[in-house]
Amino acid sequence: MDNPNQPENNPLIPHPGKKMGGGLPLIEDWANYTLSPDGVQLWKTLFHKSACLSCAWGTGGQKGGFTNEVGETLQRCVKSVEAISSELQPGIQPHFFEQYSLTDLQQLTSHEADRLGRLTFPVILRKGDSHYQRISWDEVYTIVETAFKKPSDRIASYSSGRSSNEAAYLLQLMMRSLGSNNLADCSDLCHRASAVGLKTVFGTGTSLVSLESLKASDCVVLVGSNAPANHPRLMNELIKIRDRGGTGIVINPVEEIGLKKFGSPAFPVKSLVSGSDIASLFLKPHPGSDLALFIGIQKSLIERGLIKQDFLQAYTENWQTVLQQSQATSWETISDTCGVSKQDIETAATLISQAKGVVFAWSMGITQQLHGVESIFSIANTALMTANVGKLGAGLMPIRGHSNVQGFGSMGVTNNLRKEIQDALERLLGRSLNRTPGYDARSLIDAADDNKVDTLLCLGGNLYAANPDLTQAKRALGNIETVIYLSTKPNLGHFHGLAAENTIILPVYARFENPHKTTVESGNNFVRLNDEGKTHLKNADLVSEIDFITELAHRLL
Ligand code: SF4
Repeated sequence: MDNPNQPENNPLIPHPGKKMGGGLPLIEDWANYTLSPDGVQLWKTLFHKSACLSCAWGTGGQKGGFTNEVGETLQRCVKSVEAISSELQPGIQPHFFEQYSLTDLQQLTSHEADRLGRLTFPVILRKGDSHYQRISWDEVYTIVETAFKKPSDRIASYSSGRSSNEAAYLLQLMMRSLGSNNLADCSDLCHRASAVGLKTVFGTGTSLVSLESLKASDCVVLVGSNAPANHPRLMNELIKIRDRGGTGIVINPVEEIGLKKFGSPAFPVKSLVSGSDIASLFLKPHPGSDLALFIGIQKSLIERGLIKQDFLQAYTENWQTVLQQSQATSWETISDTCGVSKQDIETAATLISQAKGVVFAWSMGITQQLHGVESIFSIANTALMTANVGKLGAGLMPIRGHSNVQGFGSMGVTNNLRKEIQDALERLLGRSLNRTPGYDARSLIDAADDNKVDTLLCLGGNLYAANPDLTQAKRALGNIETVIYLSTKPNLGHFHGLAAENTIILPVYARFENPHKTTVESGNNFVRLNDEGKTHLKNADLVSEIDFITELAHRLL
């Protein structure tokens, strides 16, 4: 059987010579997973009432394993199956860490580390040791409690969007009660620009578009996103928009074939084999030049009298300045900067102006560049100029990655808490809290590199490998006295992101195994309730993240 986890076997990632993304290989992939010896357990888990583990498009939850927020069924993609399959691996054997030294483990690739199996007991690597060793929970709590009794500016956390809202809320409550705002999060590295850009313009840092609203739009402008590989079910909505006579404008430097044509298993007759058209117009700007492209679209709208001046007058401020800037920028500058012709930019502007409702969506092609926030301003300004805000079928939609990455922000896991939430927490705790912003994911690494961090608790994620400079990340983490990882499976951070004194790995339940109900929030602001569940792991010594943080907070506070 092909291993579908290998990129070359992944049908969601088109390869040279392919004429469309998705298609029949997706069915083959489903079959490979679900007809395997683990198939029964896999199907059982797919039907468990908990949200998809994979991306933040979101499905499942209390409505059922395959049901989305508007009640549509059969809403699962193969990425979801892949994520569950990975959590259903057997447990790591009791003598594994005695057998393999750190040097052995450091030879593994990311994929090989993931394939070692589920973590089933707590382990520690003490300074100078060559092997991780099993440790009791009593010892864990004693070491971690001592590690957190450090000056509040020298303790920190890092989190990913894997865990629940409840664990996220408790984590930030504990950290803030200890006086620390050092709550770095993986979203600092992906959609921070979206949060800042949207908050500045609209007062909210999250999507302005629900699934229901997307379904009412007749044009989507998709910018800097490889949705066929990363958010496959979004492709179904793009197909439906084309089917109802709408348009898809794709803006991406690389001509991803899946953004032109995608074969979706959701439409077995009309799409799966022959593929469905996605982009009505495909613009390929130079990487990082989206700002210029959107100024061009605005300029074209202004020159042809296509902006909605009444809307701007009624609902916006300082709009004249934005218009003046676009008008003052020459076509030569625009096209030279972004590499897209005036004619193509005008076509995009025409399509946008002709639509009844336009959704502007983007991923990290926009946020992970020098002009991330400014690019979001330019997208927002384009939406406002065309009155595509504040109505069903229109708006701005950052496409988020990790399944609960947005929930972490909503629960207050941020280094720079909103004043309203801070005030509420102070009322809850009956005392004032530290108001100095803490470290985000990048400044945490810089601070650790400068020997300013003693203790780091990682709630999921892989801070080491998420950093662009692995040499610095390794050195920085190596300056921290104690690093505690709460994880379901091994990752490279466990073998390279090692603390100066104690590195502790704590095995936790996956979302569908937690002994209590939890919630997560999708990228379109839909909160899902996850039922409690059971783990398939025999004799595993796992902890729920909620229990761990509660116990630690109880001891410390
Ligand atoms: S699109 Fe995302 S949320 Fe939906 S099933 Fe696939 S991975 Fe899960």
